[in-house]
Amino acid sequence: MSRLRYSSTRDSSLQVSSSEAILQGISKDGGLFVPETIPAFAPGELAQLQGSSYQEVASAVLSRYLTDFSQEEIDDCVKKAYGSKFPEGEASLAELKDGLQVLELWHGPTCAFKDMALQMLPQLLTVANKKAGDGKTILILVATSGDTGKAALEGFCDVPGTEIAVFYPQDGVSHMQKRQMVTQAGENVHVCGVDGNFDDCQTGVKRIFTDGRAAAELAAKGMRFSSANSINWGRLAPQIVYYVYAYLEMCRAGKVAMGEPVNFAVPTGNFGNILAAYFAKEMGVPIGKLICASNRNNVLTDFLSEGRYDRNRPFYTTLSPSMDILVSSNLERLLYLLSGRDDGLIGRLYRDLSDTGRFAVKEEMLGRLKESFAAGCADDAETSAAIREVYDRSGYLCDPHTAVAFKVYGEYRAATGDETPTVVVSTASPYKFPASVLEALGGELPGKNDFSILSSLEERSGVAAPAALKALRDKPIRFGDCCMPGEMFGWVKAVLNI
Ligand SMILES: *Cc1c(COP(=O)(O)O)cnc(C)c1O
Repeated sequence: MSRLRYSSTRDSSLQVSSSEAILQGISKDGGLFVPETIPAFAPGELAQLQGSSYQEVASAVLSRYLTDFSQEEIDDCVKKAYGSKFPEGEASLAELKDGLQVLELWHGPTCAFKDMALQMLPQLLTVANKKAGDGKTILILVATSGDTGKAALEGFCDVPGTEIAVFYPQDGVSHMQKRQMVTQAGENVHVCGVDGNFDDCQTGVKRIFTDGRAAAELAAKGMRFSSANSINWGRLAPQIVYYVYAYLEMCRAGKVAMGEPVNFAVPTGNFGNILAAYFAKEMGVPIGKLICASNRNNVLTDFLSEGRYDRNRPFYTTLSPSMDILVSSNLERLLYLLSGRDDGLIGRLYRDLSDTGRFAVKEEMLGRLKESFAAGCADDAETSAAIREVYDRSGYLCDPHTAVAFKVYGEYRAATGDETPTVVVSTASPYKFPASVLEALGGELPGKNDFSILSSLEERSGVAAPAALKALRDKPIRFGDCCMPGEMFGWVKAVLNI
């Protein structure tokens, strides 16, 4: 079987294997790795997967992309990542009273969908390091807007041959999210707040990754960088799985016949989750529209309607902090694919973005974007109203990120009359954001303590909170550091004693 190569979005001649793409995280020219072809299902192959377990679907999808892994290695990674870590099932569809389907992706250890990828990435990285690595200890640097950090800490906790450092915006994550991170167990985990927003954290991490001197300093100490952010292909590939699985589940439940389209409404920040859906579509899964739902930081809504990406705008902290992002990194991969892999164009657009904070695409590209994507946004008042409305209508309790998708889907359907069966992707447990959800339902906050808020929300909604969140109450706080964006690498060296 021929091996799939991965090329950089900014220089197609920079090509690596899947192991190298996962190890490097980001290409050395600053571009992102994209498979040179998208491995489509042959006719009938999708139907054959019907009735398969999540793990079987995961093996089938991943083996098409990670062609320098043996089937045995992939199966082993799948077994370690899923199963026991997801006692209630990896991904499940809940049907609301009005027939709308919700894909719950938050039954993993940290109660957010990022577990779907971040339980898998450390497994893939460990195998990749054996194949294409140099035996050096892998140092994972993570910038998080809330959920990635905890999911990465949980995924890498005490994985041999790895160290992980997580940076979060000091005032940009929920109390529960912060609590999850600063109580993290493990000998190889490090957590630090940053005096800035998520983009400051992400820019800081990207700068360290592309700084040759930092890499050389690390190499001298027997270490090398890698990334667990959704720019890493090892994050994106596992996310394709649940779109394939969800489609098969829709068929199995008789909601659609095999071959009929399904829409997905996806709460979007860094554009990783919804890009995975696009890969599933390009693999041949019958997906209609991908509905890109943003909060008040609606840079993607504007881009997908006008073709102009412009990050020169106020940055808002919202009720859905994991979507408080003005630079959606994974969009670069989509533009690369839609431009026919025009690396020169992507290089220019992203130089424009870094020089002026904006870029524009041509009418033709905008047309192609609109073939697959629709977009909308919800501010905080609309998000709260959606939480209440969904609960009143169906008894379903959703988190603020998922609520943004509900709101945007409702508007999309009303505006277009598109009655295609649709799945709303639910990305976090409502109990990760208990104060916002309780207030949305009209409840009084019983003080500031997250755990009494959690209990109040349980009483009010009749929906039980995940045990993993309740257990945080008794965990000691291990990390309290905060640094400026420019001090991030210095902090890493200090905590690692290098
Ligand atoms: C990360 C996250 C998102 C956004 O996903 P992207 O892949 O960054 O678009 C949405 N909701 C929740 C709860 C998240 O943690």
